[in-house]
Amino acid sequence: MAEPTLQKKLQDKVAIVTGGASGIGEATARLFALHGARAVVIADIQDQKGQDVAASIGAHCSYFRCDVSDEVQVKSLVESTVQTYGRLDIMFSNAGILSKSMQTVLDLDLYNFDRLMAVNVRGTAACVKHAAKAMVEGGVRGSVICTASVGATLGTEIFTDYTMSKHAILGLVKCASMQLGAHGIRVNCVSPGPTMTSIVNASSFQFQSVEDAEKMQSSLGLKGGKEVMVPDHVAGAVLYLASEDSQFVSGHNLVLDGGFKT
Ligand code: NAD
Repeated sequence: MAEPTLQKKLQDKVAIVTGGASGIGEATARLFALHGARAVVIADIQDQKGQDVAASIGAHCSYFRCDVSDEVQVKSLVESTVQTYGRLDIMFSNAGILSKSMQTVLDLDLYNFDRLMAVNVRGTAACVKHAAKAMVEGGVRGSVICTASVGATLGTEIFTDYTMSKHAILGLVKCASMQLGAHGIRVNCVSPGPTMTSIVNASSFQFQSVEDAEKMQSSLGLKGGKEVMVPDHVAGAVLYLASEDSQFVSGHNLVLDGGFKT
């Protein structure tokens, strides 16, 4: 029997993926290219990794160095994309960092707080702003997707600044989706639970193995700890929000928590 052919959902689309050098961003950049995107621009600060990922995806993918906390760099990322490929259809504003340490409000380090907010909140705001401007100016009925977290609607005992930053993403998505609907631009976010990426390995969770992550997920009630969420699970949800399958979905927080409820 002949193999069923993949129904390509992003034929001819031009997309930017921030934080695309690894983890959820990398998996999403790969899936976007698989689904026929004409151009996928990976924006990150890990140059070698970003270039390697882009090269492994192929001619439809390129790397652009961009620290999202710097608005000038974000503006130039969007302008260069539009200049090179003629338009911008999809912005996946995904770059983010985790708290430097486990902290309660009593020992909150406000220097680290400022850096985290600069990347997670300021960076996302700059990406949404400049992508939306390019879409409005180009008459593109585009899709903007941000990465929030299960921590966007929950309190946590240990990651105060990170949790605050992800709550802010929801506020941005709610405002921008209302404001941009008139231009045919949709704005949504995905909210993953613990996902096996370098942010988790490098973080204060200090997962050394899939087994450790399973234990953590189990403690949160995620599918009884029997399955571990990996970046591909999130990428599938982002693809849905980027494609016309979600034509009438805007202002939505698509939670990927394996059944754990707030
Ligand atoms: P990751 O560390 O694998 O990927 C994050 C990427 O963002 C990296 O490539 C990093 O270089 C890039 N980045 C960091 N700071 C940047 C900056 N200033 N400018 C541009 N790029 C920058 O981790 P991930 O898990 O794939 O994280 C992606 C997003 O998912 C983040 O927003 C994170 O908060 C969110 N998230 C992750 C989890 C999880 O458990 N992994 C859960 C919920 C939400």
